[in-house]
Amino acid sequence: MKAPIRVAITGAAGNIGYALLFRLAAGDCYGPDQPIILQLVEIPPAMKALDGVCMELADCAFPLLHGIETADNPADGFKGANQIFMVGARPRSKGMERADLIQANGPIFVAQGKAIESAAADDVRAVVVGNPCNTNALICAKNAPGVPEGRITAMTRLDQNRAVSQVATKAGALASDVERMVVWGNHSPTMFADYFHATVKGQAVTSAVDEGWLQNDFLPLVGKRGAAIIEARGASSAASAASAAIDHMSTWWHGTKEGQWTSMAVPSHGQYGAPEGVMFSFAVTVSGGEYQIVDGIEHSDFAKEKLAATGDELANEREVVKDLLG
Ligand code: NDP
Repeated sequence: MKAPIRVAITGAAGNIGYALLFRLAAGDCYGPDQPIILQLVEIPPAMKALDGVCMELADCAFPLLHGIETADNPADGFKGANQIFMVGARPRSKGMERADLIQANGPIFVAQGKAIESAAADDVRAVVVGNPCNTNALICAKNAPGVPEGRITAMTRLDQNRAVSQVATKAGALASDVERMVVWGNHSPTMFADYFHATVKGQAVTSAVDEGWLQNDFLPLVGKRGAAIIEARGASSAASAASAAIDHMSTWWHGTKEGQWTSMAVPSHGQYGAPEGVMFSFAVTVSGGEYQIVDGIEHSDFAKEKLAATGDELANEREVVKDLLG
């Protein structure tokens, strides 16, 4: 048995947290031989609810769960953390515009960035799930300048998983038959699920699936999936978001298979025309705990327009929070 790693989760008593913790403790992220110590972070009013979650975790008697610690602030909660899931964020309230949400969440991620820098382990890797996740991750990273670039990322894997699932269903295939489906840009309705480079059972998706459906139905289906779930369930997605967060960190931990790509929102240095210095979702490969942005992907004019639109949105978001960028 390996030595346990420390895994911190913010917003641990929330809906996504509730779907995430039990899968982490069961070994779904780091594998059946990797014990973990959970470090659960909440805001003070949610600590009682968090106690209840801890009781349930204990009652599962998970063999891989070697400890549970709780904290009501990130400086304590991130102590020695090797892996961090930043799920907690202020939800959008009625009448709130995206810019208001960004500003409301900004200070939370300033504090969390500082806490990562001062308290987390040297090998820390973090994913931001709480929305608007790309810009929250940017604020966090800019307030942790001593942490190597690229260690703080944002999640676009749920958009990727949704795109994979839609194409698999349409093609009469399994999700595992779909490869190289990646999402570019912002985790928002402007994101671009790039079906041009994806394959299903080794065949180009553009020839395996009706092109009209791809152009007219697929992108809106993926982009509006969150709203469709709220409409059907009466609550926003939680288990699928938790599952995607596990996929993001698990792929970062274990690596991508030969020839496989995945989507991660990471610091941009202007690749593929993305604005420099935003957290942009790219096609990446992962090996040895390090991601590499895939080089040399050719984009059509249609795709370039989509990349430009989502990049513009991220540049605008960065402008809204420029005072928080350290
Ligand atoms: P959830 O657990 O449902 O969601 C948490 C965050 O994840 C939200 O920002 C949400 O964004 C985001 N998210 C990203 N992808 C998805 C997706 N596909 N579906 C749904 N949400 C997604 O929220 P709860 O309110 O249940 O729980 C949040 C917890 O965080 C609470 O327990 C609260 O106490 C805590 N919290 C912690 C803070 C901190 O650490 N300082 C600050 C504020 C809250 P969106 O709203 O856009 O859906």
